[in-house]
Parts: sequence; C-alpha cells; structure tokens
Amino acid sequence: MIIGEVKKSSKCIESAKMQLLYYLYDLKQQGIEAEGKLQFPEEKRVESVILDEEEMHKVEQTLLECKAIISQERPPQPRWTGCCMKCSYCECCYA
Ligand code: SF4
Repeated sequence: MIIGEVKKSSKCIESAKMQLLYYLYDLKQQGIEAEGKLQFPEEKRVESVILDEEEMHKVEQTLLECKAIISQERPPQPRWTGCCMKCSYCECCYA
C-alpha cells in the first residue's frame, strides 16, 4: 500500500515528511504496512518515505513531545519559521 501526500512546495519538507511518517505509524499500529510518497507536482518531484526503526523512534519521540506540550496549562509561544506564512494554523498561532 502506498500513501500519497501532495504538497505545493518542498519548502517545509521536514514537517511534510513527519506528517506522512505519522500516517504510516498510525497504520502500522493497526497492522497495516504501507510506504509513503511525498509529491510536489509543481516541482515535478516525488520523495519516498519509509517508516524504518529510526523513523519510528522519531515519530514516537515527537508524540511524547506533543503530549508534554498538550499537558501544559498554556501553550508555548509560537516560534516564527519560514513555514508559518503558508501554514494552515498561522491564524491560530498569531491571531
Ligand atoms: S504557524 Fe504555528 S503551527 Fe504553523 S508552522 Fe508556524 S508555529 Fe507551527
């Protein structure tokens, strides 16, 4: 099974990769083995994303960090990155 994720640009490729790795991780928890394809049609570029042991550890570590943030009484201040401008959550972070 191949899970595809289409992005307009590869500018924020690390977060796009982590998003797809999480999908693969979640599927694996349900007993479904899959690999990912990150697609950037405007750049005519496709990147394979494989959930190996190292990436699985990275996803689990990130989930722990997310849980630590969620358990805080107040969210941390957002840190402006090059990805914020086009992020869907920009209005939530900087309203
Ligand atoms: S707008 Fe917020 S959620 Fe989006 S990349 Fe920036 S800090 Fe992260």
